[in-house]
Amino acid sequence: MDLKLYNTLSRSKETFVPIKKNKASIYSCGPTVYNYAHIGNLRTYVFMDVLRRILQYCGYEVTSVMNITDVGHLLSDRDTGDDKMVKAAKEQNKTPEEIAQYYTSIFFKDIERLNILCPQFTPKATEHIAEMIEVVKALLDKGFAYETADGIYFDISKFPNYGKLSRANLEEQLAGARVNVNTGKRHPADFALWKKAEPNHIMQWQSPWGMGYPGWHIECTAMSNKYLGDVFDIHTGGIDHVPIHHENEIAQAESWLGKKAVNYWMHSEFMLVNGGKMSKHLKNTYTVDDLIEKGYSPMEFRYLCLNVQYRQKLNFTWESMESAKMAYQRLATHLYEHKQSAAKTDKKVLDGFLKEFDEAISDDLNVPMAMGVLWKMIKLPASKDVYETALVMDKVFALDFDKVQAAPQATQDAPQEIIDLANLRKQARKDKNWAESDRLRDEIASKGYRIKDTADGFELEKS
Ligand code: AMP
Ligand code: ZN
Repeated sequence: MDLKLYNTLSRSKETFVPIKKNKASIYSCGPTVYNYAHIGNLRTYVFMDVLRRILQYCGYEVTSVMNITDVGHLLSDRDTGDDKMVKAAKEQNKTPEEIAQYYTSIFFKDIERLNILCPQFTPKATEHIAEMIEVVKALLDKGFAYETADGIYFDISKFPNYGKLSRANLEEQLAGARVNVNTGKRHPADFALWKKAEPNHIMQWQSPWGMGYPGWHIECTAMSNKYLGDVFDIHTGGIDHVPIHHENEIAQAESWLGKKAVNYWMHSEFMLVNGGKMSKHLKNTYTVDDLIEKGYSPMEFRYLCLNVQYRQKLNFTWESMESAKMAYQRLATHLYEHKQSAAKTDKKVLDGFLKEFDEAISDDLNVPMAMGVLWKMIKLPASKDVYETALVMDKVFALDFDKVQAAPQATQDAPQEIIDLANLRKQARKDKNWAESDRLRDEIASKGYRIKDTADGFELEKS
């Protein structure tokens, strides 16, 4: 099966040709662990996961690496402001290590809940300082970098292709950007490979240039090289990384190695909220826990993500979340009916659906179209074969089709009056009207039923 992937570098869909036969290597820019990952960040990791699953579905043995940024990512991607980790540590009166540990463990829990396969390697920046220093030393030796009073900077004038990924006019992009005179940078777009630390800076390491800490971009070059080698297949990240972070990675890696390090650059578009930017600064971000609190399961959120192709913006609204929930539940009900049926379906018919499914996913991961194929297929008369074919498709969707089940018998058998009360309570909980939700639980109890809250809503039991 020919797999076509959109390469940001060529601005076109290209047939994926791996470096090593039947193998694929992926490096994904991971989270900066100074805060909770919001659902926009997580959309980017759902994309990373779908890419990996599709490659596996196509028969590739995938090696996947995702870094954990626990040092060096300053408030501005252009190396100004405090380190995000240091700022969070000061604000929360914790050490940067405590901050990193706390948010990293929550991040791993979040990706597990979303059925995002954990990459085989998840290296932390702070555990790879020596590797980063080696790359910086080599760049200095080869004349691609220079030292200032404040750090070591990459000299973009030595890399004539600077800007080839974003195709941005550098002068225009930087118009109005202030050159920080203290850094002694030769060009405003020269970027920090290493920063010299003030004595009271709380994260610093010994280096040939005195105590300091690495720049953000160098970690991805050092760690991708360590785990995947000089040249690897695919590098992923959010679209915001194109103009600075990935441009800088290309410049430093290609200068260091003297050759192209990455064959395919893939970027996922942003998630918006009510049509606007989702950002921690605007306080309009939500976490997986926020969704669960409002009665939406991680699988329903994954379903929402899968229905928008990764290169399209995804506008999150509570209405769209509710529609995803309803659709996912309908899907599960249909699948359960197929699962229960002993009837057969002509293999040729199902192979036809699988062929359409393959065509969709191999066209630059068109998962929404693949989902359309699934919906068409489940309209067939009930049959176990349809369910088995859906399970094959679920190797890509990863929507827990193997776990579909009927509502518990007691819930199905409860009188309509009790179910109506339970639905009212579900709404009260969504509205955070806790007094009303408690009152309704008591009323349900007085009528002989116990209610249990679940990720999907509720279950009822005779008490
Ligand atoms: P950070 O933890 O801030 O380094 O971001 C982690 C990942 O999330 C990066 O790949 C970003 O490009 C991506 N990202 C940030 N904001 C959004 C958003 N609103 N929608 C989708 N991806 C995002
Ligand atoms: Zn990166």
